[in-house]
Amino acid sequence: MRYCKRCLYHENHPLGIIIDDDGICSGCLVHEEKITLDWDKRFEKLKNLVNGFKNQDAQSYDCIVPVTGAKDSYYTLHIVKKILGLNPLLVRYNPHFNSKIGHRNYAYLKTIFDVDALDMVSQPQKVKKITKVTLDKFKSIHWHIVAGNSVFPVQIAVRYKIPLIIWGAHQGVEQVGMYSHEDEVEMSRKYRKEHDLMGYEAEDLVGVDNLTKNDLLQYFYPDSKEIEKVGVRGIYLSNYIAWDSKKQHELMIKLYGYKTQEQNRTFDTYNTIDTLHYADTHDYIKFRKCSYTLATDHACREIRWGRLSKEDALKLTKYYQEQPLKYLPQLASYFDISVDILKEKIGYKKLEQTILYDDIKDILDKLNFIEDKKIDIDEDMDLLQRGFED
Ligand SMILES: [Zn+2]
Repeated sequence: MRYCKRCLYHENHPLGIIIDDDGICSGCLVHEEKITLDWDKRFEKLKNLVNGFKNQDAQSYDCIVPVTGAKDSYYTLHIVKKILGLNPLLVRYNPHFNSKIGHRNYAYLKTIFDVDALDMVSQPQKVKKITKVTLDKFKSIHWHIVAGNSVFPVQIAVRYKIPLIIWGAHQGVEQVGMYSHEDEVEMSRKYRKEHDLMGYEAEDLVGVDNLTKNDLLQYFYPDSKEIEKVGVRGIYLSNYIAWDSKKQHELMIKLYGYKTQEQNRTFDTYNTIDTLHYADTHDYIKFRKCSYTLATDHACREIRWGRLSKEDALKLTKYYQEQPLKYLPQLASYFDISVDILKEKIGYKKLEQTILYDDIKDILDKLNFIEDKKIDIDEDMDLLQRGFED
């Protein structure tokens, strides 16, 4: 298996990666555009694009912003509302595996940006039934989350006739350089099916292990004719802003009090902290399936920005790859099965720890991800109720 000489990705990356004759991957090459492109000019292009969607009527929404409460939610909303001056409708699919910090950050986000928001909460028993099947069929406990995240905004766009959806980063561009930033790639059903959904649309699961159409209805993509009638488009801010997740989160911490948290299987304390199993069981499954982890994604990003050496990145990713899973008992109890059966289902092999925390402490200190050691949720809730007058 060939590896990129610069970052840690190998040629079998599930999103597809190309390693050139010099041994550099497409992700690293497209990252170079972040240094070379004229980003002021690109931001002007974004402004012109969204101006065409601004409603004169202050009561109508100019766009939809899909959020999770974590990841790039704060930054995307900051750009959309504060910088571009748009009136967004927030939409969020409830992932069911919520962490406390996820609840807190999402509640805070709605209050602090003073926006209307729609939440989709699927029936818990249906979600459980679907997730049991996706775990057995293609070893995924997160299918319903990516399906919900990617379909709910489009359903709302069609239903409320709001043609513009504004996303944060495009993973295919960010991780593997699937497109140049200048291609200005937009949301597509094809990308969603092939990459986000691992090749399984909701329709494909009807009839599998007694899953019915009714169980999966909320995850069905709207009809293409309906999408066309409204003229729905989904654009990505990362094509118009030199995307730097770490720096952006740190700005959000400073401006809006975004709270951060230590994660079990990565050093990044900013992304994916809204769900319990992402940087845990889901990451272990990814490791078994794809031979790399969430920490690899984060390390590649930091290498490309020149904040982490390859040597340190290898040590760091090995340390996190070896971390035992923290939430297996909760997940087993969710599925009403024993931990041993769950381990069998995910192909678990005992993780041996060969790298100690002391070996990576200096690397972590140098990277300096901000971590809130103790978060007083009650105090935050009190603040939320008062509505930030001060
Ligand atoms: Zn690379």
